[in-house]
Amino acid sequence: MATTETFDSISPATGEVLGTLPRSGAEDVGRAVATAKAAYEDWRLVPAPRRGEILFRFAQILEREKAALTDLMTREMGKVKAEAGGDVQEAIDMSYYMAGEGRRLWGQTTPSELRDKFNMSVRVPIGVVGVITPWNFPIAIPSWKLAPALVAGNTVVLKPAEDTPLLAQRFVDLLAEAGVPEGVVEVVHGFGEEAGKALVDHPDVPVITFTGSRETGIAVATAAAQQLKHVHLELGGKNGVIVMEDADLDLAVEGITWSAFGTSGQRCTAASRVIVHEAVYAELQTRLVAAAERMRLGPGWEDGTDIGPVINRAALEKIDSYTAIGKDEGAKLLTGGEIATDGDLARGFYYRPTIFADAEPGMRIAQEEIFGPTTTLIPVKDFDEAIRVANGIRYGLSSAIFTRDVNRAFRAMRDLQAGITYVNAGTIGAEVHLPFGGTKDTGNGHREAGQAALDVFTEWKSIYVDYSGKLQKAQIDTAT
Ligand code: ADP
Repeated sequence: MATTETFDSISPATGEVLGTLPRSGAEDVGRAVATAKAAYEDWRLVPAPRRGEILFRFAQILEREKAALTDLMTREMGKVKAEAGGDVQEAIDMSYYMAGEGRRLWGQTTPSELRDKFNMSVRVPIGVVGVITPWNFPIAIPSWKLAPALVAGNTVVLKPAEDTPLLAQRFVDLLAEAGVPEGVVEVVHGFGEEAGKALVDHPDVPVITFTGSRETGIAVATAAAQQLKHVHLELGGKNGVIVMEDADLDLAVEGITWSAFGTSGQRCTAASRVIVHEAVYAELQTRLVAAAERMRLGPGWEDGTDIGPVINRAALEKIDSYTAIGKDEGAKLLTGGEIATDGDLARGFYYRPTIFADAEPGMRIAQEEIFGPTTTLIPVKDFDEAIRVANGIRYGLSSAIFTRDVNRAFRAMRDLQAGITYVNAGTIGAEVHLPFGGTKDTGNGHREAGQAALDVFTEWKSIYVDYSGKLQKAQIDTAT
């Protein structure tokens, strides 16, 4: 460890210091990359089914540790117990899923256009993968990236978010316990501009996978382009839920509340816009406000808490600034819109669930990612306008429609410009065996999860085996 500097992990629920970590710089990153690069030479040759078995053991260990990791997550990241457990479960699911990939990793065989010749394509690992993760899914997102990277035969240097380093360290320690050999997964703690940037710039890291904000994603892609690295970006969202006049409103209210306020709105798939048919607009407002005002704020580890804190003071201030922006723009604040400071809440970073109504689609609160428990209602006259409004943003991650009309449901599935569409559910709830990611400014065309994740972490190699004993030339006219 070159650095002697440190930083603290702070609980957003109470402000208390949970741990102290090394603040790594370029030199530490250099050492980690050198170690991972050396480890790659062996790891790539370990049979993929064996690599998968290690992931299988990791999933079992995560199951054993689920309660402890859940508890730590409520303290370090802040989400409530049920959601923290879901975060860990996602990593369990992903690890089991990718463990099975160790016995697939399918390529293709095809006929050759020439006699006595065999053609196939295989996936090959790439090398050291630089993994940069955010704090909002502190166990799930590392698993989305590490499980496919490792089963495919790559080694990894992980730079986790500076807000959730203890969870990342646990994750890596448990991988070692599962049998991942030394050097195959290295972790560097520290800040984005220092450790993160050094990883992106390092010449021995040919792949960068990044989840975070749009602005940082652009900086990462720009830096990585200088060395023509493979870059996978998973960025923001401004996800809309459409509620048509024939929707089951009870179901819609439940789905919207869960998607807008779960994890205090700090999901890239959070429902931050609700696009409502005018026939049910007044009724939906009343029901949503009642549901939001019933929600209890508190530390995530306490039974009965619906909404935990947001990640840090800067996030709290940013969220509050958007309340001021919404009011200035002329949207109507229906509920919330303030920092919660009653009793013990004053020690942490709590924001009341906030609903704006009567927003114009072009307003900043209806366009920009707030990443907090704030959602905005936009009235529309019909289905076509709903789709237009839903698509009228720079992002394209998740989308949803509540309707009982199968024709409209299918049109929405076709026309919503997003990587994910839910019918009669909120905007969140991805399963690990389907591709996850978005269109437009949400990413750069890649997907994580599902089979698609393997495309980020492998190269295709085409192999031609000629067993004719003579030189055969493709595309050259000869009698065959
Ligand atoms: P968030 O708003 O979720 O904190 P960021 O995009 O700032 O999003 O951070 C996501 C991750 O990217 C974190 O691990 C952070 O440290 C890292 N990061 C921030 N800036 C850079 C950068 N310039 N280069 C590489 N990584 C960075």
